[in-house]
Amino acid sequence: MGSIKVKAIVIGSSDYKEKDKRVTLFSLEKGKIYGVLRSVKSPKAKLKFAKELFCFGDFFIETPSNVITGVDVQNNFFELSQDIDKYYIACAILEVVNTVAGEGVENTPLFLETLKALGTIAYGNVNDKYVLIKYLLSIFSAMGYRLAMDACSVCGEKFSGKRYLNLDFGEIVCLGCKAANCIEVSSRVGTALKLLNTTDYKKLSTLKLAKGSEDEVLNILNINFDRRFNKKLKLL
Ligand SMILES: [Zn+2]
Repeated sequence: MGSIKVKAIVIGSSDYKEKDKRVTLFSLEKGKIYGVLRSVKSPKAKLKFAKELFCFGDFFIETPSNVITGVDVQNNFFELSQDIDKYYIACAILEVVNTVAGEGVENTPLFLETLKALGTIAYGNVNDKYVLIKYLLSIFSAMGYRLAMDACSVCGEKFSGKRYLNLDFGEIVCLGCKAANCIEVSSRVGTALKLLNTTDYKKLSTLKLAKGSEDEVLNILNINFDRRFNKKLKLL
């Protein structure tokens, strides 16, 4: 019997056996892994805090039982649980990472991006939906589905007229390259995507998009996410 130590964040939690909890962790070292918290339903349980979403720190896990024996908490993102809007957006981030992270597969960029997004929602004075959009754009890009807003992904021509999202390929194309299964990207969605693509998380607080355009953008990105990863995100 051995043990491992991973830096991880709790992204899911469910009941397991009578008194235990099974948590899904997204770790720096091993991507998505599972851990068992023994008898944590009792209010006196030593590790009961570790069954909460967003609990982030060093986890000590016994192998091969997967029992978590200790956690050094670095941050529990307490602020996220104090504001229902922040909480829902942050849960959508966890849903995304739970969908795209590979089990046992290290993915440092995704790990860092996830922490950055959650930190911005928790502590930044920003429109939380902008953070989710930015996060989704970076996920698409990292997975090879960059939503380029400057030029058509098929013919390479700079956009002058209407733009379309090709749902089969997850790319933005021009009218000439429009095929079946394309949805139009309105000009305000196009502008919003362009701005969010190029604005760093730290600068998101200075960004102001046309009112309501963030919902329109999220709607399109959610359709795209569903087509790419076969999962519809729960958004308010
Ligand atoms: Zn084209």
